[in-house]
Amino acid sequence: MTEGKIWFNGSLVNHDEAKIHVLTHGLHYGTGVFEGIRCYKTANGGSAIFRLQDHMQRLVDSGKIYFMDLGFTRPQLEQAVIETVKANGMDECYIRPIAFYGYGKMGVNPMPNKVSIAIAAWKWDEYIKTGGEEKGARLMVSAWARLDPKTMPTHAKATANYANSALARVEAIKAGFDEAIMLNPSGMVVEASAENIFIAKNDELVTPPSSSGALAGITRESVMAIARENGIACREANITRDELYTADEVFLTGTAAEIKPVGEIDSRVVGRDSGRPGKITRQLKVLFEAAVHGKDKKFSKWLTPVN
Ligand code: PMP
Repeated sequence: MTEGKIWFNGSLVNHDEAKIHVLTHGLHYGTGVFEGIRCYKTANGGSAIFRLQDHMQRLVDSGKIYFMDLGFTRPQLEQAVIETVKANGMDECYIRPIAFYGYGKMGVNPMPNKVSIAIAAWKWDEYIKTGGEEKGARLMVSAWARLDPKTMPTHAKATANYANSALARVEAIKAGFDEAIMLNPSGMVVEASAENIFIAKNDELVTPPSSSGALAGITRESVMAIARENGIACREANITRDELYTADEVFLTGTAAEIKPVGEIDSRVVGRDSGRPGKITRQLKVLFEAAVHGKDKKFSKWLTPVN
């Protein structure tokens, strides 16, 4: 990815020109917040950004937690995202807005530094590679505990939180798995390194509450809404490690990963169907696809047209 435009502090610049100083505060101390958003082709021939307002509200909220003065209103940032997508001429893409404390004064206190904001967009098709959609991802429970809400604000999508995610993801990959599942310091299931997690048991969906330390994922919330709308029971509850092993179905949700079926956890095959995606997972994938591509009118409120 070396071409196209990046929105940087209010204007679109060439990809190669979106540069920062090595003494940027956010680089040294993890004082940045970001989003991941997707833009999809829609049934009417155009493109639309999925849940743009919700993503930008989460960015604003993440920034508020870190005392950031973003310098732009939420509607201005939404417009900037639309402009970035248009400028790059892609009908489907992943969009990455990031706000961070910039270059100025070193030291842990970020406040003397100005906040910079950038928005980039790129093609990001399959996020967790598992070799074919019919094969669920192979997951392991990480030895690293997920951040505790007493340690870090887990509702902020902060760059600092992803050092914890990266340790778990690398641990899993080095051990030959596709992704890590993280437990909180009390031993309850929280989420994967960059996705929320759902289990299905006896035709009911369960996902850990955000008080577990999980990010309040927008795909997670969308899946819960789609499930309820289609008569699939869904609740938030703490999940133990052994409940993962005995679930009928397990899947991950995230903007990058979308709905990712899980086939194996800690070398135990998920469900009864040799680890292949289960019936609820398959049904939700179809319904989610319809929603993001504007084929389900009930959820068109989630789409912001690019043109
Ligand atoms: N948990 C973590 C730690 C994440 O990084 C993400 C990706 N943003 C998610 C969950 C899923 O959130 P969303 O559906 O809003 O992308």
